[in-house]
Amino acid sequence: MKALVYVGEKQLELQNIPEPEGEFLVRVLGCAICGTDLKTYLHGHPYFKPPTILGHEFYGVVDKAPAGCGYRVGDYVTVAPYGECGVCDECLHGIKESCKNKEYVGDGAFCEKVSVPLSFVSRGVFPIPGPDKAFALVEPLACVLDGVEQMEVAPDDRTLVIGGGPMGTLIAFTLKDRGVDVQVAELNPLRLECLNSWGIPAAPLETYKLKEFSRIFVAVNKKELVELAIHSVHDGGRVHVFAGLPSGTVLNVDAYDLHYRKVAVMGSSGFTLDQFKRAYETVSRNPDHYRRLITHTFPLEQGQEAFEFLKDGRAFKIVVEP
Ligand SMILES: [Zn+2]
Ligand SMILES: [Zn+2]
Repeated sequence: MKALVYVGEKQLELQNIPEPEGEFLVRVLGCAICGTDLKTYLHGHPYFKPPTILGHEFYGVVDKAPAGCGYRVGDYVTVAPYGECGVCDECLHGIKESCKNKEYVGDGAFCEKVSVPLSFVSRGVFPIPGPDKAFALVEPLACVLDGVEQMEVAPDDRTLVIGGGPMGTLIAFTLKDRGVDVQVAELNPLRLECLNSWGIPAAPLETYKLKEFSRIFVAVNKKELVELAIHSVHDGGRVHVFAGLPSGTVLNVDAYDLHYRKVAVMGSSGFTLDQFKRAYETVSRNPDHYRRLITHTFPLEQGQEAFEFLKDGRAFKIVVEP
């Protein structure tokens, strides 16, 4: 099968590799490029050592399934790239993201076929009505639910999302759906135009007075912006570090902000299977709303071009189609 193999920094190669083995196979119809994929492509990543296949935000069609597993060949599905076990110490204490026995779906999905462990099918595979790109957004939306739930945003919390990329936008969509007054700080003109046309007020960061916001999400990989948010959020406010900064990044935080101003700082990454399921239900209810985020599609053969295109800020969200 064809696969877009990440062979080193800034190198993606279309290769012919053997089909995966396994009892349950999904033929990938589309896989979105995640911020983590782009980061890995550009600078490497401690979890994804080359050569490997990236991509985890995908949907497709069942290509092989044993009788009685709940799916048949030809069913359209979206798949959680991993899931917690639900029974280890971490899971039982509610920190499912840190589960030590996570189950993973084969390799990445920038390829033609992905193998799903049979034991994971009933928990991690979800039926979709057809080949709809919107379902590539279930996984990022699930990660967003994790962050939003942690922040306990109330309808009267003025909320700012710093960074209007796909994640920042999904945070804004989620909060707006819950009746929260949410705005986005962003520089890229393409993104500003998209956000405003989708009914999310967005403007460059300088135009906002951060003191007026009681909840700030930082969805840009810039440590200075995290520091600024902590220092500038409203007294008693909360700051969520959604951005994935490299391990070892040390933040300059004034203890005064934590002690006297009672600012709380939190962060999250990943999702739980319950959040994935709810994200799936949310996208299922209104796929048109989410599909708008996908501004471009590229064939797998032009995978590297797709990554370069995204890097240059010329697309919002890209789906790569094998
Ligand atoms: Zn992702
Ligand atoms: Zn566990």
